[in-house]
Amino acid sequence: MKTFASLVEEVQKPGLCHLCGGCLTFCTAINYGALEMDEDGMPYLSDMEKCTECGLCYSICPEINELDDDIRKNAGWSEPMGRIMETHVAHAIEPEIRQNATDGGVVTGLLLHLFEEGRIDGAIVTKPSGRLQREPWLAITREEIAASAGFYFDTSHGMKRFLDGYSIYTPSTRKLKSMLQQGLRKVALVGMPCQITAIRKTEALGVLPSDSIHYCLGLFCSGNFFCGSEQQEKLAEIGGFEWENVQKYNIKETFLIHLKDGETKSIPLEHLDFMKRPACRFCADYAAEFADISCGGIGAPEGQTTVIIRTQTGRRLFNDACGQTIELFDAKDKVNLIAKALKQIEAASAAKKRLSAKHRQAL
Ligand SMILES: Cc1cc2nc3c(=O)[nH]c(=O)nc-3n(C[C@H](O)[C@H](O)[C@H](O)COP(=O)(O)OP(=O)(O)OC[C@H]3O[C@@H](n4cnc5c(N)ncnc54)[C@H](O)[C@@H]3O)c2cc1C
Ligand code: SF4
Ligand code: SF4
Ligand code: SF4
Repeated sequence: MKTFASLVEEVQKPGLCHLCGGCLTFCTAINYGALEMDEDGMPYLSDMEKCTECGLCYSICPEINELDDDIRKNAGWSEPMGRIMETHVAHAIEPEIRQNATDGGVVTGLLLHLFEEGRIDGAIVTKPSGRLQREPWLAITREEIAASAGFYFDTSHGMKRFLDGYSIYTPSTRKLKSMLQQGLRKVALVGMPCQITAIRKTEALGVLPSDSIHYCLGLFCSGNFFCGSEQQEKLAEIGGFEWENVQKYNIKETFLIHLKDGETKSIPLEHLDFMKRPACRFCADYAAEFADISCGGIGAPEGQTTVIIRTQTGRRLFNDACGQTIELFDAKDKVNLIAKALKQIEAASAAKKRLSAKHRQAL
């Protein structure tokens, strides 16, 4: 039986750990409590006595492929980037949500719709934790869900405030434990592709807390960028901007830095390699291939979100929310816009898969 020790050998030691928190969350959720997380977010075996050698942590790890066939079958997965039922470009109706959102605010709009209709009693999201770091958050009121939108800089305290150890990745699955403790039975999860994969694996195994997660909203992901003080300085140099002038940023085809004077700086993603978290180099999922609905900015005009609907659950949710909390972008040539967006996603997805294969070969 493979256990956490096998994860250490096969995933952590070769540098493949995504720090998704999946193993730790599920070990804790089932009350084993054998694992803890070190200050870098890396799970470790803290109490050997508590390890029952159930092997669950091993099976659900996104880097372990023993359940890949099951989750692909369950999701109706197909080449080249998972099941695609529909693609849209859309935005949240509420101006305040749009203003705070990363792109069009569709993710937040969908969550608000679910909450207002009583279809969820909470959402696992993130919130800024003060130093430009995101931390996992279980939002259980309308206000909290609305406040989870976006991905903003607060530069009012100067550069130093957000320089240390900033990472745009958040192990949101850690919040699953508090969800169970609070007895929440209907929850939506917003996560990166690796986090959605871990959830789907628990579904395939039929273990807690997958039965409480009714909706998986995935974000497109070209990588997790670690942004400490050195990286911030280099980024400003490459982009030719001052941090004090930054209004917000987002990731689409490139890394976009929106300045307070209205100018937008654009940095090609490959130029961010110096700050990419090592494990992300091996990751092959760009488009959140196992989510109910996957969202990104790529292919959409500024202020809009590109949306891929992948499951019947996702389709029902999107259709119900349309006209309530979100609406479709009213483009002149919608068909062309969507076809172009899909092509861009496909290209980004293929490039990520190629890069992942190349890096794995070099291991
Ligand atoms: C690390 C990262 C990399 C990304 N890379 C790309 C990319 O290469 N191409 C692309 O097109 N799109 C990418 N995205 C997705 C994009 O930035 C937007 O999140 C997406 O378009 C949804 O926008 P929205 O306005 O609809 O979401 P919003 O309504 O603003 O909601 C965003 C939701 O995401 C949650 N969230 C924010 N940051 C994180 C985080 N670090 N971890 C987990 N949840 C988070 C928020 O809590 C909120 O629930 C990336 C996102 C992240 C976090
Ligand atoms: S108890 Fe199970 S899930 Fe927890 S560390 Fe041991 S093998 Fe992994
Ligand atoms: S489940 Fe996630 S955190 Fe745990 S070893 Fe695997 S990749 Fe790392
Ligand atoms: S690239 Fe994105 S999905 Fe892949 S491991 Fe990194 S954060 Fe997770």
